[in-house]
Amino acid sequence: MKVGVLALQGGWAAHIQAARALGHDAGPVRTAAELAACDGLILPGGESTTHLKLIDRFDLKGALDGHVAAGKPVLATCAGLILSARAVTHPAQASFGWLDVTVARNAWGRQVHSFEATADGSDLPLVFIRAPRILDLGPGVEVTHTFEGEPVGVRQGPFWGVAFHPELTADQRVHAQVFGRP
Ligand code: GLN
Repeated sequence: MKVGVLALQGGWAAHIQAARALGHDAGPVRTAAELAACDGLILPGGESTTHLKLIDRFDLKGALDGHVAAGKPVLATCAGLILSARAVTHPAQASFGWLDVTVARNAWGRQVHSFEATADGSDLPLVFIRAPRILDLGPGVEVTHTFEGEPVGVRQGPFWGVAFHPELTADQRVHAQVFGRP
């Protein structure tokens, strides 16, 4: 599958490596034309406020909306999850509403409190870097991963959002769940 990674800011390069390691044809996306050529999309971690500004500056909102509306698969991680949420708190900021969740920014601790753990009932490694907490979910959203009983991964049809960073581990399961194994 051709998987585009939004490459305006943040941790996009590791996602390209992860998707390629799975066997996908992955590359950076910085224009609407590049996105239109993709079957799947990854919204990486980074700084969501900066992402908002750059998406506006590069005029990518329409193309991103179009990808989501077409029902093509998306994996949104950390800052990508924040951008995708219906509502954002701590502090409140604009978001695109592709995923029917409310998230609180930086609510799993500050940068110095970044940590690694494993998902509840699984050996799936979870890397948290100033990660958002998922505060509530709409009726169409299913929980895919939990940590200490709280949702840290969710899915609404083909749109997946995780608070952690699967691209920073060698474990391919999250990317494989979203995009399959070619
Ligand atoms: N704290 C960041 C934000 O609010 C997200 C952190 C991350 O993506 N690792 O955008």
